[in-house]
Amino acid sequence: MILALLRRLFPVSPAVGAPSSPTAPPPAPKPAPAGTPSPAPSRYYQQTNRHTPNISPGRTIYPTHIILHHSSGSYNGSVSWCLDPISKVSYHCIIARNGKRTVLAPPTARTWHAGVSSWQGRKNCNDFSIGVSWEGDTYTTPLSEDAILSAVEYLLPILEDFDIPLKNILRHEDIAPGRKEDCSPAAQSALLAALRKVAP
Ligand SMILES: [Zn+2]
Repeated sequence: MILALLRRLFPVSPAVGAPSSPTAPPPAPKPAPAGTPSPAPSRYYQQTNRHTPNISPGRTIYPTHIILHHSSGSYNGSVSWCLDPISKVSYHCIIARNGKRTVLAPPTARTWHAGVSSWQGRKNCNDFSIGVSWEGDTYTTPLSEDAILSAVEYLLPILEDFDIPLKNILRHEDIAPGRKEDCSPAAQSALLAALRKVAP
């Protein structure tokens, strides 16, 4: 199912040497017959896996929601900050403008992205949500297509595995109004539009 969805979204197999999908190694490409136009660029994005120390030890969550953030700083700066135990901040995934991303914890880890928060009577949204952060300020700079599609690539298997509906993809501001304003409604809308094309 997931493979079929990913194929619909990313119809071109990644070329040898391209960053690999986290789920499966790319098949070796068949040599193209003479005169065949060169294939479209790969839509697979480089994923680096790291382990943030900023998770609740010994605790696992069953995620029912996705919380969207942005970090006004740089991609590398955000990754470093989330790997620093001093910061006590982490996301499950940080996505750069060019689509490359760093996954800092598995979906069932309790990361520290939401802070004081509540949604529909449930407090402490870190207990039941996955935090995804885009590089940059999504109010002043609209998301790039690469940033959106990388988020789709990361989220689609998670939405499937945990049966998370699209309506449960929220902005940080939704769960911490008055305290946080990320990400922009436009960024959320762009992601949802891309997901609706491929999600069940
Ligand atoms: Zn945030």
